[in-house]
Amino acid sequence: MLLAATMFAGATSASAKTPDGKPFILLLAGRPSHGPGQHEHNAGVQLFAKCLAQGAPQVVTKFYLSAAWPTPEELAQADTILFYADGAGGHPMLQGDHLAQTEKEMKRGAGFVCVHFAVEYPADKGGPQALEWMGGFFEMNWSVNPHWTADYTELPKHPISNGVKPFSTKDEWYYHMRFNDRAGKLTAILSALPPETSVGRDGGRSGNPTVREAVAAKKPQTTAWAYERPEGGRGFGFTGGHFHKGWGNDEQRKLLLNALLWTAKVEVPATGVESKITPEDLDANLDPKGRKPKPPENPAAAPAPGAAPAPAAPAPAAAPAQ
Ligand SMILES: [Zn+2]
Repeated sequence: MLLAATMFAGATSASAKTPDGKPFILLLAGRPSHGPGQHEHNAGVQLFAKCLAQGAPQVVTKFYLSAAWPTPEELAQADTILFYADGAGGHPMLQGDHLAQTEKEMKRGAGFVCVHFAVEYPADKGGPQALEWMGGFFEMNWSVNPHWTADYTELPKHPISNGVKPFSTKDEWYYHMRFNDRAGKLTAILSALPPETSVGRDGGRSGNPTVREAVAAKKPQTTAWAYERPEGGRGFGFTGGHFHKGWGNDEQRKLLLNALLWTAKVEVPATGVESKITPEDLDANLDPKGRKPKPPENPAAAPAPGAAPAPAAPAPAAAPAQ
């Protein structure tokens, strides 16, 4: 057993994969949080899985919802692991012995992808690991989390950028990440200049003198980045994803799907991972969150009086206030 473990640790590539040799991507969603359409972790990972099935059918994906945790066997097979979840002390990776379990897979070179709040870790737990595995993380009293419209006018030459055109979306684009400046290769994938108004008063996630100075000096801020560890594993951090509708943007969605392949060491197609989704796909699997869905914005789309009523949807269970 010890011999086998040693031999495996000495392998140069992650190449865990499924028993039939297919790349394996694990998508881990956290529990619902925030209001409707925000932090839709469960709907998000299911959308990513659907899109990967379209644009990267050679890859096997499995998702876990609401902070459920995969089996050791699945972790050991994963070529990359994505977290789309609440972060900080509530991060699913920091519960129980999950950090040690994750570390084992990172040591053999598995990919590591964190989306939105999941990029935040306490500086003394998870933060050091995120620096090592992903090259950066959201650190309290250093990074900020404003809502703003980021205008990504150009992307670097990198497999994650394949087929992704410049785009602009309003999101809670965190910036001023804490980056690993000591080892590995860090590539800024998305960078933009936030408005000075996006830096608030000094506070844990709102502002601090360092970020204020950087924005005033018009230093572009990185909101998505790729990282190659010196030992060979790959990581990707993406700070947007507060609003679920952002995944309806073809460029944003393709960027994330490309990153899943890249971190799994699967070749990214020259035109990127192609996926087509409908408004129904985007609305699928949203957590009820104890609120009624918004009425249609276009009254003409509502059923005319006297029209046969649509089958009633089951009433969502009331959720406690958050
Ligand atoms: Zn958010």
